[in-house]
This record gives sequence, C-alpha cells and structure tokens, in this order.
Amino acid sequence: MSNLQTIVGYQATDKKLLLIEKELAATDEKKKYAQARKFLKSAQTALEGYENKAISLTGELSRMETHYNNIVEQLKDFSEIDYAELEENEGELAYLKKNALALAETLKALKKDLTAVKEKIETVEKEYKALKKQTIVMQKQYREYKEKYTAVAEGKEAEMQVIRQQLEELEKQIPPAVLERYKNKRKEGVWPVLCQLKGDRCGVCSMDLPRAAISELSEKGFIECENCHRLIYKE
Ligand SMILES: [Zn+2]
Repeated sequence: MSNLQTIVGYQATDKKLLLIEKELAATDEKKKYAQARKFLKSAQTALEGYENKAISLTGELSRMETHYNNIVEQLKDFSEIDYAELEENEGELAYLKKNALALAETLKALKKDLTAVKEKIETVEKEYKALKKQTIVMQKQYREYKEKYTAVAEGKEAEMQVIRQQLEELEKQIPPAVLERYKNKRKEGVWPVLCQLKGDRCGVCSMDLPRAAISELSEKGFIECENCHRLIYKE
C-alpha cells in the first residue's frame, strides 16, 4: 500500500471513531453533564464576585455610619450651648446657626446615601442567595449526569478500542510528520482532514488552487488548502 492509500484508509477508519464520538457528544447525558460543568465553572467566579462586593459595601456602610454618628454628636453640642448668654452677640449666634444648618443638611444627605448602600447590600445578598441555590441544583445535576455519561461512554468503549487498535496498526505505516499534521487537524475539529483534488479546486471548500501548488502535489503527496486548511491529495 502506498503512503497515500494508507493515510486515506486511516481516515476512513478514523471516521468510525469520529461517528461514535459524535454520537456520544449528542446524548442527553453528555449535554446535561457539559451544561452543569459549564455553569459551575462560571458560578464559582460569580459567587466570589458577590462575596467581594458584599465585603466592600459593608466597609463603605460602616465608614458612612461612623461619619453619620460624628455629625449627630456635633449637633448635640449645639443643644448644650447656653443661648441666653449669647443673646447680645448676634454675630456669634448667626455663625452658630449657619453651622448647625450645614450639619443638618449633611446629615440629611448622609441618611439618603446610607439607605442607598443598604439597598445595594440587600440586592447583592438576594442575588448571591439565588445563585447559590441554583449552584446546588447544578452540582446535583453534575454528579448525576457525570455518572450517567460515564456509563454510556463505557458502553461504547469496547467498540472504540477495536478501532483505536486498527488505527495504531495503520499509524506504523504513515510517515510521522504526516501523521502529526493529520492528528493536529483532527484535534482542531477539521473534518475531513484529507480531501481529494477536484479539477483545480479543493474538494471541500472549492477554493481555486494555484498552479504551482498543484504541481507540488505529485512530488509531496499532499498540499494544504490555504482557505480551509485541509490536506488535499490527488487520486
Ligand atoms: Zn479548502
């Protein structure tokens, strides 16, 4: 068998394996397993995000409360002033009044900000709890479907093992460099990896191939399509 026939035959055998892989990937067990795995991966980051947000908001709330209490204390001082003594000093009275009013305004604004931060904390806690609840559901789905999928995959294992052995036998007859290129493309999801030249075009994507490339075909055995990156051969 020539190198070309061997690798074309290799792809035909590999196709059997690919079909089983596709069949497994399309099962409900695999889909639910993959869905849960994907969810859990992103949920972990999201939960950590909520935790960090809650910590920073709680810190902000605590700083605001301290500020608020300071102002309440300052306002208290105003109530302890003996205003009867100041009756004669209009300038001082006006000054004190102005300060007291400014403090009262600050207090009002702070109260509003405090409410806003408390609301934010409540929202974060609510979202965190909802996500946590969903995470628990998904953890259950993950465990359940991982087990189910493993059982389904094991059911196909013997059949796949026979094909893998056939492939291993064929691999011995394929030049290592060609085999490596084939395997890399297969891993990248290129399928079919090998295709026939059709006229002057790629057999899969129909891209026109340069004359110089086609003349390399008989010498090299394969050329790579610049468009779809498949390995093109001539029968
Ligand atoms: Zn192509």
